[in-house]
Amino acid sequence: PEAITVQELANRMAEKGADLVKALFKMGSMATINTTIDQDTAELLVTEFGHNIKRVSDSDVEIGLEGEADNDTDLMPRPPVVTIMGHVDHGKTSLLDALRGTDVVSGEAGGITQHIGAYQVKVATGDIVTFLDTPGHEAFTEMRGRGANVTDIVVLVVAGDDGLKPQSIEAISHTKAAGVPMIVAINKSDKPGSKPQKVREELLQHEVVVEDMGGDVQDVEVSALKKTNLDKLLDAILLQAELLELKANPNRPGEGTVIEAKLDKGRGPVATVLVSRGTVRVGDIFVVGAEWGKVRALVDDRGVQVKEAGPSKPVEVLGLSGTPMAGDVFAVVENEARAREIAAYRASVLQRKRTTQAPANLETMFSALK
Ligand code: GDP
Ligand code: MG
Repeated sequence: PEAITVQELANRMAEKGADLVKALFKMGSMATINTTIDQDTAELLVTEFGHNIKRVSDSDVEIGLEGEADNDTDLMPRPPVVTIMGHVDHGKTSLLDALRGTDVVSGEAGGITQHIGAYQVKVATGDIVTFLDTPGHEAFTEMRGRGANVTDIVVLVVAGDDGLKPQSIEAISHTKAAGVPMIVAINKSDKPGSKPQKVREELLQHEVVVEDMGGDVQDVEVSALKKTNLDKLLDAILLQAELLELKANPNRPGEGTVIEAKLDKGRGPVATVLVSRGTVRVGDIFVVGAEWGKVRALVDDRGVQVKEAGPSKPVEVLGLSGTPMAGDVFAVVENEARAREIAAYRASVLQRKRTTQAPANLETMFSALK
């Protein structure tokens, strides 16, 4: 649907337009019944009046994905998507590099690793793990703020010789808020000063109870530097993944989330998309944020061109009309006309958001409702 006026929304809710105007006023937003409001504001109003929200983001409505749930029988196991978080200098980058080095296929042809914002590791058993290599809380929080919950498992890296630090604690609270299971990698265990037991006790104070202490959080002592116990960490990740029974239907039009996007000098706009369900193929028409395109090429984390990408696979997508933003939803649509229409609609919504007075930020609106 188009963005809606206060009166139209009132009609749909079977409420008086004037009452909605009053409610908006209470939220600190000046409006008349003819004012056009955005999706977020409309949702707030709906909640305020005690109606049930049929959760409709721009993307859902416009692409018609809403309600298109998959049959259980169509679901297939998919690799876990893992984010590494932790305090600065505790070894996030070192661990990501070390884990990448465990990949059993990296010796094969075309094995020049590319930084595309995520990579996959294949372990000896054939299981695959996807790591987001944009570590840090900003990426995680930013994505979540935009409604994209791309992470299945968080690995919290804590340097054994340093213990829990402010960013470790912040990571714990983000992870809890997201309801994502955590595994603790106690890093730098090669250092004489490493005190893993002390780390476990500190974790306990933050209600992260490791298995040794009767809880269900796995912890693994590792050294990213000496590359010790990386296999154990991968095992822990795969065990956690098994418990989560991660599945997706690969046999439907591809959908995913942008984890990185840039304007490449030679290749034009490039987005790294983490496929959430379905399969993206070369030649597919898609919408991503307020952009659209036809997949000209797909490039994996080894810089190899691939014909398709299924669930949990990160790929660079080439062939975009412009550069989207991290967190934007990517979705294959049926044809170019549809793609243009959706992209134009979204561009107009963005335009309006920029030009009209934003109705305060969401946080303050929510607290105003309490
Ligand atoms: P980040 O800020 O969390 O990404 O941490 P880095 O990966 O950049 O590591 C910070 C410093 O700790 C670097 O000097 C690393 O070489 C060092 N480091 C990382 N992992 C280990 C480890 O397992 N053992 C030791 N001794 N040093 C490590
Ligand atoms: Mg780093």
